[in-house]
Order: sequence, then structure tokens, then C-alpha cells
Amino acid sequence: METTSQQAVQSAEAQVRSDDRNHVFHSWSAQALIDPLPVAGGAGSTFWDYSGKKYLDFSSQLVNLNLGHQHPRLVEAIKRQADRLATIQPAFANDVRGELARLLAERAPGSLNKVFFTNGGADANEHAVRMARHHTGRRKILAAYRSYHGGTTTAMSLTGEPRRWANDPGDASVVHFFGPYPYRSAFHASSAAEETQRALEHLESVIQLEGPGTIAGVILETVVGTNGVLIPPPGYLKGVREICDRYNLVYIADEVMVGFGRIGEWFAVDAFDVVPDLLTFAKGVNSGYVPLGGVLISDAIAETFANRAYPGGLTYSGHPLACAVGVETMHVFEDEQIVQRVRDLGERVVRPELERWQREHPSVGEIRGRGLFWAVELVKDQSSREPLVPFNASGEAAAPMNAVAAACKAEGLWPFTHFNRVHVAPPLVISEEELRRGLDIIDRALVQADALVT
Ligand code: PLP
Repeated sequence: METTSQQAVQSAEAQVRSDDRNHVFHSWSAQALIDPLPVAGGAGSTFWDYSGKKYLDFSSQLVNLNLGHQHPRLVEAIKRQADRLATIQPAFANDVRGELARLLAERAPGSLNKVFFTNGGADANEHAVRMARHHTGRRKILAAYRSYHGGTTTAMSLTGEPRRWANDPGDASVVHFFGPYPYRSAFHASSAAEETQRALEHLESVIQLEGPGTIAGVILETVVGTNGVLIPPPGYLKGVREICDRYNLVYIADEVMVGFGRIGEWFAVDAFDVVPDLLTFAKGVNSGYVPLGGVLISDAIAETFANRAYPGGLTYSGHPLACAVGVETMHVFEDEQIVQRVRDLGERVVRPELERWQREHPSVGEIRGRGLFWAVELVKDQSSREPLVPFNASGEAAAPMNAVAAACKAEGLWPFTHFNRVHVAPPLVISEEELRRGLDIIDRALVQADALVT
């Protein structure tokens, strides 16, 4: 006999499912083909469904939840702010908005001293592009094929990968180029150094062929995220900086996914010793507890708008609830030494384990990453490097990846898979025991992919 409380939970779950099915229109999906898991709660690196089944969150909710579910200090910061001043429009000066902007400017490299706050990552990139265009008086933006920059019009156009296709033609002033990817070099390079050199020569050729006098800037994810955790080879980003300086182009670093500790640095550019002119962020700035993104702006670009109005704004720019969690996030990062622990866990726990997978699983073509951000690239054949599923995977083509994901879920791990890759991107507060347990689950799930190796 079911108890009354079990019945209450089941009926709550049924209501969630029915409201979702009937009224929620989901992102990136054929609405009739999806059946989202109703989530009842979460804490730290775990969330659970209505049956009480727990999942280790190795996706960090779209690589967003850097400080984990329900961090008590972040929840408290929202409550405190809500009691004091729940909202105020952006034309007023506000204490937490100003404090977060100051803390970000203090942390950011170079002269990135001002912050324009947005609601998320896509609009941060929209505004960065707008700033670059007004600053230079030029229109074209160069962006990488292997990139994702967001789901709004210009951000979709900046995006190089297949999610852009259905929205083409969008912003016609975006031109794509190949970035470095030594494992699948577009330049037939045989070493990382050669890849860097050829990728930079290619970028410079594109600039010359497009006409430097027509180009406002170059946007790059500092580490390409959903398109493969592509760590730029040594010297590449410095080379991009030099090319931008040579042609007087604005260098926009998109750190929406990789900022705030994800790769074991406050800002990912710190790992590569470069300073962009504009740096966009979102996600990890406050773990998405309240939507927030922004653009860090160099003094030179801010100066353009000193006596000339910036043509853009958002009702919720610098929302006090979002900024209050952002301020608390910065303090938690210091107090819990988040950046240091990410570096340690990445090198001591994740790297050796993934290197073992590469040796032992015939389906693992390459592993790459840094901190708590990794990709395991799956292939049908290690020597030809043919991807396990095509890069433009349709639902059907992704079946092998669905099998890997299902095996993870069955054992209580929520994975992050994209195209032919399994990513390792847990909350940065994950315990070592949870991290090892999660890696063991993926290790076992990879047997599904091994079975398809030809
Ligand atoms: N830029 C990068 C690198 C991203 O990974 C994302 C989202 O995943 C975005 C921009 C878009 O951010 P949002 O979904 O907050 O608009």
C-alpha cells in the first residue's frame, strides 16, 4: 500500500509533467519528442527527481552552476537583498551593482575597468559587438566556425556550428574562420606549434581578403566550450592579440562558459597571458541563481562613449538580486579557494583518469581540458579519427551518444554530451569522492561506445 505522502509526491510529479508538456515551449527541441525529467531539488553537486533518485551533475546545468546547487551563502545573499531592495532600474546608482562591477574590474586583467551588465551571455555578446562597431566605425566581425556565442540574432550569426544554420542569414556582417584544433587540423599541421602558426596566417589572410578597413573586431571563446573544449595551442591567443593590434581591430573574448574558475583561472585569458579589449561573461558570475551576464570594457573603448551616448540598454541591466549573488560569489571564491581547488582536482584527479581512458577505451580518440572542463572525443576508429557521430548530428545519428548518456543516467550521473563528445564539467565545489565516483560511471558507460568501434 502506498503511503499518503508517496501519493502526494506522485501527484506533484504528474502535475509538473503535465504543465510542462502542455505549456512549456522548450529550447532547441522538437516539442513532441522530448520528455524532460522533473527535478524536485538539488544540493551541491547533486540534484534529484520526484522518486528521490539522485544524479551527480556533471553538466553543471549548461556549465553554469559553478558553486553548485543551493549554496547556502548564495541563497542567503538573495534573501538579504530581496528584503532590502528587490529591484531598481539601471539609470540609478546602486550599491551591489557598483560593488560587483568594482570587484570584477579589480579581478580582470589590463584596463578592463567598466562593466555593462546584461541578462545573460548572448546579449553580452550582442552588446560587445555593438560596442566594437561603434568604437571602430566598422561593421564586420570575424568569428570561429567551431564556436557557440548564444541564441539571439547576432550571437547566432557569430556562432559557427550547426545551431546557426536554421537562423541564416542573420547578421550578414559576420565572417567565419578556422581556429586551431590540432586533433582535426584544418591546416594539416603536424604539431601544436605548426597549428598556431598556420591558424594565425589563416586569420591574417581572412582579414586581408575581407579588407581590414571593413572589420570591427574578432570574437573568440578563450577556450572553445560546447564545440569541444578546444584549448588554444601555445602562442595562438597572443598571436590573435598582435594581429588585432596590427590592424586596429577590437579583440572580444567570450568567457561566458569558461570564466569564473572553470579552467582553474578567474578569467580564462589569464592562463594565456592576453588581455582582450572586451570580455563577455555570464553563467559562473553568480552560478545562474539569478540571470546575469555582462561585458568588461577596456578604458579605450569606454572612452569612446564618454561624451557620446552608448546606444543600448536593458531594463534588468545590473539587477540587484543578480548582482548581490555575484558579489557573494566573488567572496565565496576567495574563502573556499575555488580557483586553486579546481586546478588541483583537474591535474591530480581528472587528467590521469582520462589519460587512462584514452589508453584503455578503443572509442576514445582524444581527451583534452583543463581545471574542471574536459572533453572526451569519441571516434569509430582511432587511426582515421572518424567521429563516432557526425558533427552535425541529427537525433538519429546521435543514438550512440544517447546510449552512453543513458548508461550514465542509469547509474546516477547526469552527463553533458555534445556531438561525438562526453564532457566533464561538474560544479567546482564537487568533492573528490563525488568526482571520482562520477568519473567511474563515465568510464563504465564508455563501453557502449567501445562496442561501436569498427
Ligand atoms: N557564449 C558561450 C561561449 C556560451 O557557451 C553560451 C551558452 O552556453 C553563450 C555565449 C550564450 O549564453 P546565454 O545562454 O546565457 O545567452
